[in-house]
Amino acid sequence: QDHQPGVETKMNPEPESVNASYKGSGKLAGKVAIITGGDSGIGKSVAVYFAKEGADIAIFYLEEDKDAETTKELVEQEGRKCLLIRGDVGQESHCINSVEQVKKEFGKIDILVNNAGEQHPQQSLLDITAAQLEKTFRTNIYSFFFLTKAVLPHLQKGSSIVNTASITAYKGSPNLIDYSSTKGAIVSFTRSLSQSIANKGIRVNAVAPGPIWTPLIPSTFTAEEVGKFGADTPLGRPGQPSELASAYVYLASEDSSYVTGQTIHVNGGEVVNG
Ligand code: NAD
Repeated sequence: QDHQPGVETKMNPEPESVNASYKGSGKLAGKVAIITGGDSGIGKSVAVYFAKEGADIAIFYLEEDKDAETTKELVEQEGRKCLLIRGDVGQESHCINSVEQVKKEFGKIDILVNNAGEQHPQQSLLDITAAQLEKTFRTNIYSFFFLTKAVLPHLQKGSSIVNTASITAYKGSPNLIDYSSTKGAIVSFTRSLSQSIANKGIRVNAVAPGPIWTPLIPSTFTAEEVGKFGADTPLGRPGQPSELASAYVYLASEDSSYVTGQTIHVNGGEVVNG
């Protein structure tokens, strides 16, 4: 199969967080951004691109064994500050305390990227336990409510919220039913919230990634599934995190000042409804 020239087509050993030619042009100068799951994959890339655009970053993340320290270094290389806060964003008290910590450290909050997410190996509906359901919903959608509630009083006119949804919200995913349900909820959450706070001059949008090569993929798909990952998209390959990050910059910055309640598709050319 033909692929885009100049782009790595098969699974790379490491997801590409930064496209070296991306320089940034001060689109987020002086802003403070919270990014959940900013230690890894898509969130890591967004953290670095936001820093390249001039923002200080607070990363909310779960596990020590991921890439939090590396992301912090990359943000600091851009001359920006980076605060790491570890804990479970599925717990409301943790969200409240963490947002207070960011406010104390940086004095303000301008941008919230709700991006943390988990998915479990593919399984049928009958195998999804109540405990798994609760965990997936806590991480993938409750956390969006908890953090947005905690951050909202600190936001002002011109602030922006960006949520990570998924192509599965539109196409469905027969063996990731709990996951895709939370992603559908994120699309609705984005629309409804945008309408409820538009009068404050605060915008809310989402990105729906297609297959993106991140650490999430080999940890939840079999080797055979990983081998085929992204091959059925029109571009014939998975995307890299670095190919998503500028969509987040667009939605977080004034460039998208007349855009709210929308979900942007970054998915290798898949046609989706809604
Ligand atoms: P990833 O595993 O590399 O990163 C996700 C990060 O989320 C983790 O490193 C962790 O720090 C954080 N996280 C997970 N549970 C958490 C919790 N309870 N509390 C705090 N932090 C928590 O995965 P990724 O592929 O970069 O995924 C980022 C987002 O993109 C997720 O919402 C995922 O559903 C979504 N997404 C990914 C793809 C893809 O193909 N990779 C496609 C569509 C949507």
